Amino acid sequence: MNKEEWMSLSDQYIMGTYKRFPVVFTRGKGMKLWDTEGREYLDFVAGIAVCSLGHAHPAVSNAIKSQADKLVHVSNLYHIDIQIEYARLLIQQAALDKVFFCNSGAEANEGAIKLAKKYGNDRSGGIKNEIVTMIDSFHGRTMATITATGQDKFHKGFNPLLAGFHYVPFNDLEALGQAISDKTCAVMIEPIQAEGGIRVPDPDYFQSVRRLCDEKGVLLILDEVQVGMGRTGTLFAYEQDGIIPDIVTMAKAMGNGFPIGAILAKDSVAVAFEPGSHASTFGGNPLAMAAAKATLETLLSEDLISNCRLRGGYFMNMLNELRKKHPIISDVRGRGLLIGMELDGEVAGIIKKCMDRGVLIASAGPRVLRFVPPLIVTEQEIDQVIEILDGVLREGA
Ligand SMILES: *Cc1c(COP(=O)(O)O)cnc(C)c1O
Repeated sequence: MNKEEWMSLSDQYIMGTYKRFPVVFTRGKGMKLWDTEGREYLDFVAGIAVCSLGHAHPAVSNAIKSQADKLVHVSNLYHIDIQIEYARLLIQQAALDKVFFCNSGAEANEGAIKLAKKYGNDRSGGIKNEIVTMIDSFHGRTMATITATGQDKFHKGFNPLLAGFHYVPFNDLEALGQAISDKTCAVMIEPIQAEGGIRVPDPDYFQSVRRLCDEKGVLLILDEVQVGMGRTGTLFAYEQDGIIPDIVTMAKAMGNGFPIGAILAKDSVAVAFEPGSHASTFGGNPLAMAAAKATLETLLSEDLISNCRLRGGYFMNMLNELRKKHPIISDVRGRGLLIGMELDGEVAGIIKKCMDRGVLIASAGPRVLRFVPPLIVTEQEIDQVIEILDGVLREGA
């Protein structure tokens, strides 16, 4: 079948929730993807900050294959060897004590919201159960997580939303202090607002947020679904903020493409979940655990987080050089290999032209290009993208 035939079948059978680019992918390796026409693409999207080791990494593929031959699923009615092994490895790397496994970012945030409410209700006789989140945040697409998401466009058509959510501007400590009431059980924030435009807070913001939460007796939930697993130059983004949150959610890069999510919590908070409080049939599934364990082991043993810091710094410098040449670029910001480039204009045309030249780039809102390449990216590949961007920007969008 040719591309057009694939795309028309796609429209015939798959719900139209995505406005997809006109390309049909069949294969990937490392930094590269190939479509049905045999065209090669340099991938600076990585499945939306997911495939941090690059496509078809042998460590992950082999882990999935050998686990598939042993055990695919038994449910959480039982203990599972590979689940326990991965839980230990993950928790040993974290400042938190316990983990709950699930299958996606939205499911992790949904569970974190439940955990915070349960903890708050248990300790206050049912008074503390409201949550403060940020304007321009993104936390997922379930009812609780679109409610937590502080962007109207994700709410439209889905009323009534969940009660008990309040929104304040990101990076505004005073507004946060005013929004926290006697009913608040938790504050939920992304360390860097990713979907919301790669917004990086002031360096001391999270230390102040941590202090405020301690003073007022509310939990701090960090949504590390996109920033976690090394993306910003440390395994967890909170390490660079010098704080320890009460709850952390993760997902995207955990399994290098295999679906998995997780809620991490301090012991003192995790106890609020008792047998029966929360569950997930597929959560901690042996295949996902094998993929995630291989991913984390590779990330650590190949020191890809150092590569992320190094290449991230290089990429940021190159983008800032580009900014000097092209006045349409109004800002370059980010951390590690989560980088946003804001334009005085729409980015859709730029993304399409880059794709025509064989480079995949995502957006974060209408005016921000989002660069989230695999953490294995080389300087040469960054140079290639800079050169193509330079050409596309010179032409104008
Ligand atoms: C992608 C994302 C989510 C949602 O994750 P899904 O796996 O798509 O449900 C939640 N929070 C943040 C910060 C994200 O980037």
